[in-house]
Amino acid sequence: MELKSFKKLFQMTKVINSQFELSEILQVFVDAIAAEITQADLVGFFLEQPDGTFKGYKGNKMPVDITELLIEPSKDAFVRDILATGSSDYIADTNVDTRLDAEKKNLLKIKSILGIPVIVNDNIFGLVFVHDFGKPMNLTQEQIEVTEAFVNMASVAIRNIQMFDHTQQLLEKQQLLLDATNAMSKTLSVRDVLETSFHFLQRASGAEDIGIHLFNEIERTLEPFYLSSVNVKEEEWKRKHRDEIKLKIDDDRLLYEVITEKKAIAVPDVYADPRPKHSALAKFDIRSIMVIPLVAKGNVFGIIVIPSIYKRAVYEEGKIEFCKSIADVTATALSNAMHTENLDHSVNERSMELQQANFKLEGLVKELEYLNELKNDFIATLSHELRTPITAVKGTVDILRKEVIGGLNEAQRNLLDTAGKSIERLLNQVNELLDFAKMETGKFELSCSDVDFKELITEAEHIVQSLINKKKLELTVEVDPSAETVLRADRERILQILLNLLSNSIKFTPQRGKITIKAYSSGDALTIEVGDNGIGIPIEKQKHIFTKFYQVNNQINGTGLGLAISKQLIEMHGGRIWFESSEGQGSTFKFTLPKRGNL
Ligand code: ADP
Repeated sequence: MELKSFKKLFQMTKVINSQFELSEILQVFVDAIAAEITQADLVGFFLEQPDGTFKGYKGNKMPVDITELLIEPSKDAFVRDILATGSSDYIADTNVDTRLDAEKKNLLKIKSILGIPVIVNDNIFGLVFVHDFGKPMNLTQEQIEVTEAFVNMASVAIRNIQMFDHTQQLLEKQQLLLDATNAMSKTLSVRDVLETSFHFLQRASGAEDIGIHLFNEIERTLEPFYLSSVNVKEEEWKRKHRDEIKLKIDDDRLLYEVITEKKAIAVPDVYADPRPKHSALAKFDIRSIMVIPLVAKGNVFGIIVIPSIYKRAVYEEGKIEFCKSIADVTATALSNAMHTENLDHSVNERSMELQQANFKLEGLVKELEYLNELKNDFIATLSHELRTPITAVKGTVDILRKEVIGGLNEAQRNLLDTAGKSIERLLNQVNELLDFAKMETGKFELSCSDVDFKELITEAEHIVQSLINKKKLELTVEVDPSAETVLRADRERILQILLNLLSNSIKFTPQRGKITIKAYSSGDALTIEVGDNGIGIPIEKQKHIFTKFYQVNNQINGTGLGLAISKQLIEMHGGRIWFESSEGQGSTFKFTLPKRGNL
């Protein structure tokens, strides 16, 4: 080989390394060969077609449009030989060696022709032809070898491009998969996962329609779940599956294989394959199909179906694998989202239950409130209605006892005394009930005035004096000078509190017991104590003492409302009430009243 040719080859190597566009590289080679073999009229590169013919792709400058040239091996023994041997061949004289397609020979007036196969990765990628238009080239062996060297160089270049393209495609796929994984990790709902997955599957497969079926392990069926299609509406798809097609894996060997072997299968022509159920595919005019299992935690829980409607699909190498990768990412995200939504679903159900329970409770509370109101109204009406006649009876008894109308004998006086006491008690109880009803309905109001506190205590003392005497109790009253003050308060109500505490002490203290009243000032408040050395309150009952209607021994005497009403009255005045008591020792009730209440 001449030095000049080596130089050219060296230059070619540089071109190969810098150019990655197939058509550019081929043009460079074709031109280089044309420059080398000056006797040649045509240097052309022909690319193999899927049908086995070779179409003109790149040529040197010449009057013929190379892309219009088609070489058909079936008509051309010369080409057939090159393809069969995989090596170059030279016809020095087409009149002697008549293997060349006669039609072509005559059309281009070919006298001599060199044909070289372009072999890439052991496959014939294309053919290079070098020939004349009527004047034999008379190529030397050296010229043939140089041309072969160029073509070999071109083969390397093509392989590089293919590798580059392949790498590029791999990178693109990896990027797409990465994007899919990323997008999927951000999806929360089942719908999001499906939409994201379909977007990437469409990009990966080029398909327009994608469906997902869920696998029912017990029935061994595949239930339609979600469809993205330009050809069929999801509703229609579901209806057909429900009414006309029932996908049972035991009736369909293709689905059976996908599910049991957990592998993706693509069938370019479904009717040429005995495995799928043809009648089902025909319902949707499916011609080709790719079925990928959805596998999460080792279990198949569904399938992704990528069909091709009407036309045959080509499943290039790597495409199935790639779609499977996206399906794997989908499976994990989908099973998680479905799990969460089921959880959410049950949480929703639970909160619904709670809501309903709340509803019921609210209803009950309303009913109770209503009953309570009824009760209060009833108590208020009743006590009000009772108070008038009781007051009248009391008045009558008082008049009779005062012997204004006429004298009474001993027995009559005693009877009237008893009647009078009972009426008083009754009136007190009715008054308590009335107070209670008023307090409950918020209708209770204080009527405040300036109250001489010491004088108030003295009045209470006087009122209970007869009861004290009767029980031979010892009453001590200690009003500290600091408590000799004027209070802003509802006088009647404070008196009522004092009388209530005193009457309790009297009631629950045996004869000859001791009762004390103490009043003193501490800070901003006055404290009043009513103590006794009576029966006391058992410790376990103490917490109920201020509860409405509560009585320690359920005694008939009293309503169990006195302390509850007193407590409320004290609090309305801005004070508080508490007590100390021990069973058998006695009790002391204490309450405060603010000296300068804003009443
Ligand atoms: P009642 O009208 O029954 O007296 P109260 O609310 O005034 O209602 O009192 C509630 C209960 O507290 C009484 O029934 C009694 O059992 C208990 N109690 C109140 N004061 C005393 C006390 N000083 N000593 C013992 N028990 C008392």
